[in-house]
Amino acid sequence: MKIHNTLTKRKEDFETIEPMKVRMYVCGPTVYDFIHIGNARPMIVFDSFRRYLTFLGYDVNYVSNFTDIDDKIINRANELGIDPKDLASQYIVECKKDMEGMNIMPATTHPLATEEIDGMIDLISKLIDKGFAYVGKDGTVYYDTTKFKEYGKLSHKNLDDLQSGFRDIKVTGEEDKKTSTDFVLWKPKKEGEPYWKSPWCDGRPGWHTECCVMAPKYCKGALDIHAGGEDLVFPHHENEIAQYEPIYGAPYARYWMHNAFLNINNQKMSKSLGNFFTVRDVLSRFSGNVLRLFMLSTQYRAMLNFSFELMESSKASLTRIKNCVDNIIFTLKNKNVTVNLNSRLDNIDDFDELVVDLKTCEEFRDKEVEAFDKICEHTKIYFDKLDDDFNTADAETEIYEIVRIVNQTISEDCSIEFLNASYMILNTLLGILGIDLTKEGSDTDLDEKLIESMISERSEAKKAKDYARADEIRKKLLDMGIEIEDTRQGVKWKKV
Ligand SMILES: [Zn+2]
Repeated sequence: MKIHNTLTKRKEDFETIEPMKVRMYVCGPTVYDFIHIGNARPMIVFDSFRRYLTFLGYDVNYVSNFTDIDDKIINRANELGIDPKDLASQYIVECKKDMEGMNIMPATTHPLATEEIDGMIDLISKLIDKGFAYVGKDGTVYYDTTKFKEYGKLSHKNLDDLQSGFRDIKVTGEEDKKTSTDFVLWKPKKEGEPYWKSPWCDGRPGWHTECCVMAPKYCKGALDIHAGGEDLVFPHHENEIAQYEPIYGAPYARYWMHNAFLNINNQKMSKSLGNFFTVRDVLSRFSGNVLRLFMLSTQYRAMLNFSFELMESSKASLTRIKNCVDNIIFTLKNKNVTVNLNSRLDNIDDFDELVVDLKTCEEFRDKEVEAFDKICEHTKIYFDKLDDDFNTADAETEIYEIVRIVNQTISEDCSIEFLNASYMILNTLLGILGIDLTKEGSDTDLDEKLIESMISERSEAKKAKDYARADEIRKKLLDMGIEIEDTRQGVKWKKV
């Protein structure tokens, strides 16, 4: 598998620090409000990437934080007249609800910045001791960017350019800064703000220090993958590297993965433009599955344009997939086979085994042999696409190809083996993208009792030689999209 590394600007072979183990850290949201649709992109992309790594057999330690102390949180809490801690806890709960709505797996660990202050004080002390940080008159601690020779290596900027870019920007409260690119590691409290005691002053850590303490602690060492939105490359991730590497004397992360922005109707999302949407807004109109199918329909490093029209089109695509899967389930039901809706291949070896097992399957009808071959071909292309810098956009195309083949092949006389394998493969490929059709509000379960009772009413009518009534019921069922067939084994029905 190859992934694009922001650090080298190249696609590189993926090799982990420990064999078959992945230490992955994804910067989480600052919790001062409901998360917006822009926050959802890294969540969905990297959740799917985690699922794919797991499918490939890796044991993934997935860490994603909540920034629960920050200027934005304090300002919002002050506006509302509540404790910043309460505000943050409330929005962590809301964020987790949205994540569940988007079918995002909980991280292995979700550390909170406010619970890691000791580790941050410890790191800052070490940076001061080693001469990489200095203390201003008011107790503010600054990182000295001139001391770290590799500063700018992630964002591919050199320090001189950065400094000239920053020259005119003076931030109040940072008067003792030596160089414009220096950044704050610890800042003194203001009246009414939450604070922690430290050797320098009562105050709180800077944001860049938070991740760089939580990531190695919960990933247990340097990272295989550090991921986040591209807006985090500079200064956030650049500053994390600058703190970690002088202390640990080793690379902080092997691979840096960054997803591109999300625009709304080809414009930057902003509250002032009136095109600001929360995940909650979107999930009130579309399912989490539709949102995922949409978000993954663009490769993660390409700009993604969000609009409700495009979401409608993803919804139509999901319906197409679901109809195909429902058809497989119906056809199996008519053969008295109940499908375990959660059945999927756990890992890539299971897929290879399935291919070998069914290559010589004697139950396959002629048309199924050919169809199964094609399905396997498209499945392999799907994996190749994901292996190529996680190209979910092209991988989705392969799912549609498989749906097309199944639709062309499926009929009453299909073998149980072909139907089962088709279900298994589709459910697996959808599962890697985090699409769970059982959450799609299946109409099959809802209608089933009604259908059965209508069928038995029709049989009663036929017995009573009331053929007009029997025909009427058959027509009604057909209007509902259900076709019935009288067979020697009884009445069978299927969705049409
Ligand atoms: Zn971060």
